[in-house]
Amino acid sequence: MSVQRTLAIVKPDAVAKRVAGKIITRIEDAGFTIVAAKLLHMSLAEARGFYNVHRGRPFYQSLCAFMTEGPCLLMVLEGDDVIARWRDLMGATDPAKAAAGTIRREFASSIEANAVHGSDSPESAAVEIPYFFSSLELCPR
Ligand code: ATP
Ligand code: MG
Repeated sequence: MSVQRTLAIVKPDAVAKRVAGKIITRIEDAGFTIVAAKLLHMSLAEARGFYNVHRGRPFYQSLCAFMTEGPCLLMVLEGDDVIARWRDLMGATDPAKAAAGTIRREFASSIEANAVHGSDSPESAAVEIPYFFSSLELCPR
């Protein structure tokens, strides 16, 4: 195991449902450290850039519109093996397939409005964290 950082997003559906606090509690109970956090209401250009890997997929336009519906809570989490462990806690992309006890099973509304995001690899985290956070915003440790 190694200490990693990952980008976590509480998506606009979950912020609007006022469950961001419950999701933060799950994060803290899992033992992850929040090293940076902020609210951001993304522009369409920012959402399109973030989800550029999905450009061309049938859900891309709708996904980008959804991500701009309201503010997201962006966080950088740190911990041992946090990239895989945060995705395990999130659950499957489709909440209907997400395991009991996962965040998406409990809080997601649909495969699109699925409450949370997590970087899927160290390579993704290395791109996604600086997409939203400057080095000044990341607590030195
Ligand atoms: P995320 O990248 O947000 O952490 P993920 O890695 O579980 O989620 P991806 O395959 O990367 O899933 O899809 C990115 C996002 O696009 C999903 O979280 C969801 O919001 C949306 N999405 C994925 N598949 C579909 C689909 N079939 N229909 C509608 N939206 C979808
Ligand atoms: Mg993904």
